[in-house]
Amino acid sequence: MMQVPLVDLSRQQSQIADQIREGFNRVIAESSFILGPQVEEFEELWANYCGVTQAVGVGNGTDAIELALRAAGIGPGDDVLIPANTFVATAGAVMRTGASLVLADCDDNYLISVDDVQRQITPNTRAVIGVHLYGQAAPIELLRAGIGTDIVLVEDAAQSQGARRYGKRAGSLGTVGATSFYPGKNLGAYGDAGAVMTDSEEIGNAVRRLRNHGGTAKYEHPEVGFNSRMDSLQAVVLSAKLALLDEWNAQRARAAERYTELLSDVEEIVLPQVAEGNEHVYHLYVVRVPRRDDVVAQLNASGIGAGIHYPRPVHIHRAYAGLGYSNGDFPRAEQFAREIISLPLYPGISMDEVQYVADTLRRAVSSR
Ligand SMILES: *Cc1c(COP(=O)(O)O)cnc(C)c1O
Repeated sequence: MMQVPLVDLSRQQSQIADQIREGFNRVIAESSFILGPQVEEFEELWANYCGVTQAVGVGNGTDAIELALRAAGIGPGDDVLIPANTFVATAGAVMRTGASLVLADCDDNYLISVDDVQRQITPNTRAVIGVHLYGQAAPIELLRAGIGTDIVLVEDAAQSQGARRYGKRAGSLGTVGATSFYPGKNLGAYGDAGAVMTDSEEIGNAVRRLRNHGGTAKYEHPEVGFNSRMDSLQAVVLSAKLALLDEWNAQRARAAERYTELLSDVEEIVLPQVAEGNEHVYHLYVVRVPRRDDVVAQLNASGIGAGIHYPRPVHIHRAYAGLGYSNGDFPRAEQFAREIISLPLYPGISMDEVQYVADTLRRAVSSR
């Protein structure tokens, strides 16, 4: 029986092993472990890649979202709108700023619904976070048109490294972007790391202060900050991998296209769509099926590592019960959470593996 894991990071390693070893040796020789020259080097590469003037390396993606919000002046008394169907980190980052969390439903592409955002906007709404879920950008320019120019528009670009919308990279579309370099992301470190991207020098400088204890210079601390700095070793990994990101994203897209080809005639399966203007980087290939748990069990029994991203929307977690929402408030997000499956997808996945997964899925949804 073939074994196809949900992700296999090991297939990327051989392409970058030498460069990483040399880079690590340099960091060790220089003892430049935190915010060293390697971090500055990566920040510059990443800013250029995203098409922004400022990229600030931080400790992880959740901190990146929180720091982006705080640097844009969001805090207690402000309402921040996010989609109900996201990883809980988006919600947690908002809560930690002291702002009030407000949820919106999603559209058919699993992206925040512009209509629902417009319905929920109040004079207290100070920020909206578009989550570029599964690898395609949320409709940031439509959100902007719908909410006006005074509201801070944040991109959660953790799942969308390299994605484009009307030619512009994820992370350069809103007021400020935040991303995660968790190992499993399209651009992943060898541990935790993240970044904030923006064209605003003011926001960029605020994040630089906040990530390092609110300092402006050594032992000068005008504000209370965090310890959320990027490690130089992670920056070495990220710079080496960034050179291959487009190639790896193209491999993901080819595998995704093949899944779509192989499964498009199966009536029971809802395949992912690409929204107009989007270049999708397929962090995840997510389909919807009837009797989902049963189908996942059959995939697993055939050696296939299917995933569910995510089994519950934000308001269904106990941590967020205090928001006062209940089951039924976000019908699409709730329905999708019951039906979604993430199929194996990673750079280096073979077309035989894709075929095996597609054949097994086809059989699983047709059997009763
Ligand atoms: C991974 C992820 C995060 C959090 O990133 P960490 O680096 O794990 O803190 C936030 N939002 C989304 C959508 C993610 O996928």
